[in-house]
Amino acid sequence: MSLFDLSGKVAVVTGGNGGIGLGMAKGLAAAGAAVVVAARNAAKSTAAVAELEGLGVRSAFVALDVAKAESCRAAAAEVLGRFGRLDILVNNAGMSIRKPPETYELSEWLQVIDTNLTGAFVLCQAAYAPMKAQGGGKIINIGSMMSIFGGAYAAPYSTSKGGIVQLTKSLATAWAKDNIQVNAVLPGWIDTELTRNARAQVKGLNERVLARTPAGRWGVPDDLAGVAAFLASAASDFVTGAAIPVDGGYASEF
Ligand code: NDP
Repeated sequence: MSLFDLSGKVAVVTGGNGGIGLGMAKGLAAAGAAVVVAARNAAKSTAAVAELEGLGVRSAFVALDVAKAESCRAAAAEVLGRFGRLDILVNNAGMSIRKPPETYELSEWLQVIDTNLTGAFVLCQAAYAPMKAQGGGKIINIGSMMSIFGGAYAAPYSTSKGGIVQLTKSLATAWAKDNIQVNAVLPGWIDTELTRNARAQVKGLNERVLARTPAGRWGVPDDLAGVAAFLASAASDFVTGAAIPVDGGYASEF
């Protein structure tokens, strides 16, 4: 059996219907995992499921609004009911509201924090008991360059993504005894719907990203496939609490 083989494993990818989530879902499917796409948009998710099934694995759509704790718990229960196990949880669903910090409504702040941070925590809680009972599991939380840097137009987003790293470290230390590895991935600037909106809203962003990224290009969702397969597999069994940049060198340059 290959060190990276995920045959027989069941993965849940929140926001797995496009962008980075689908890129990672494809990496997990290519390694043999069944992949559940958990998100809101049914049409987009059904298309993603078809794409994943085309890679030769079982896939399904489970409706999830990650900003609602009850929806997170119900989605985890549905996965267990339909697939009988839960081995890999990828907390990828995320959003941002861009504006100067002094102008946020409290409801906007909470929307970003609930989606990007609290939902991930609730899903980790829901995954803990089944993973422990199975003898182990893998949790991959998606941070950002804003887990490291601040953003003048992204106070709640950068707060949520900084929190994702500390949540990752805390769960990693608590659950290492249960053979559950918890790691974070910090993508650099990746070409997706999210950043296409950001490019439209933030003047000069495209040029700044190209100039500041040592690799000299935007990332693409497929750039995240390999790290997902690694962190979901036995190859990373002694890796836990890490925050791994996948950023073309962005965070390394002064
Ligand atoms: P997209 O906008 O392409 O994808 C976001 C995904 O999140 C969608 O699949 C969406 O599905 C899902 N989502 C959003 N809100 C909810 C919700 N309330 N409940 C369930 N699902 C939800 O963005 P990216 O692929 O770019 O982003 C994915 C992750 O990567 C995010 O956490 C983002 O912060 C992070 N990231 C992205 C970077 C980039 O450069 N693109 C850089 C660093 C981090 P649906 O609408 O169907 O619910």
